[in-house]
Amino acid sequence: MSKTITQLSEDFVTRFARDLYHCSSCNYCVDAVWPERGMHAVCATLEQHSRAPGYSGRGYIEAARAIMEGQALDAATLADRVFSCTTCGNCEAACPLGLRPATIGRALREELLAVDALPPALANARDTFIAHGNPYGLPRDQRRAWLPDDEPVAQDAAMSLFTGCASALPTGAEARAGHALLKAAGVTVAVVSDACCGAPLAELGLRREGEALARAAAARLGAAEVLVAGCECAAQLRGANLKPRSIVRWLCDAVTAGQVDLHWKDDVARPSSVRLVESCQHKRDGRDGDEAAVAALLASLGCVLLNEDFPNRHATCCGAAGGMPAMAPAAAARMARACLPPTGLAVSLDARCANHLQACAGEDVEVLGIASFIEHYFRVAARPVP
Ligand code: SF4
Ligand code: SF4
Repeated sequence: MSKTITQLSEDFVTRFARDLYHCSSCNYCVDAVWPERGMHAVCATLEQHSRAPGYSGRGYIEAARAIMEGQALDAATLADRVFSCTTCGNCEAACPLGLRPATIGRALREELLAVDALPPALANARDTFIAHGNPYGLPRDQRRAWLPDDEPVAQDAAMSLFTGCASALPTGAEARAGHALLKAAGVTVAVVSDACCGAPLAELGLRREGEALARAAAARLGAAEVLVAGCECAAQLRGANLKPRSIVRWLCDAVTAGQVDLHWKDDVARPSSVRLVESCQHKRDGRDGDEAAVAALLASLGCVLLNEDFPNRHATCCGAAGGMPAMAPAAAARMARACLPPTGLAVSLDARCANHLQACAGEDVEVLGIASFIEHYFRVAARPVP
């Protein structure tokens, strides 16, 4: 007989009962379209994986309400729906009542774990993480392979650099490029590249285990200022009471403050245009966020951006997050291609998105992480102190 889920934890009910009974079933989180606001679709899972309403934010709210009212739901069916969410948060951005369907979907993952209903593909992903300390299943010591052998240990550096799984692995391209940019800007950092912040576990529903890893990582980052190379790491470390800045945000701020010069390289042909790809991790940042700062910096340097409305908070997810590549790899690849131009250069501020987009892009599209892009096309130098 198949397993059912018959109740929700007290914690779940306390946190979300209001949302469950305030939903007006308006369907904005399912199929709202408002081109003037950049909303061409809401849910990448509905667009590219399944049109069944049970896979939507509204579907998660209705499922949770049904369980709360005593209905027994098939655990495997609900798990397939809830774990096929990219956790992008677009449904919440669309909800006119400010409800939290994506957060409820994430919390339902924990409820399903409590009845041992993690889908097999994600159980494998969890086991891979536990065995190797990263979601790629690569050897632990490969996390530091990008770091030059002769890199001195910076004992008293004023800044720490935390390179998470996606920037340090699988190639380490973003970690290496970000570190090189800081070096070129005259900054010395203490590198922590052998720890995970726990974000990959948290998105599987193992929130507490993820938070424990975040606290352990935070304890290693003793310097006054923490820079990060991974967007999901930044969000996870904020939960451990850190206030990390991304490398690229540091660079934007340093250029604005006149501490660092950034110029196109004379010996590298400039790209005719660039498509910047939004990261769901930055969805709530608004005009003060990293993505807006990068768009302004690149525009000031004469870089032609294909998407002038960047960052669009309603842009659909590229499919890198939420366990989607493990859960439904073909759908995750379609999500990625839907975010890319047919030809040319695409750049993401999020190393995890960049890895996923690179793996899924057609041969006419080049995808770079932001640090790799800046390092390739620009010359960075500390401005001499007068
Ligand atoms: S978080 Fe994203 S993928 Fe998940 S239901 Fe909402 S819009 Fe769809
Ligand atoms: S969660 Fe919000 S957007 Fe979705 S159906 Fe309910 S009220 Fe509408």
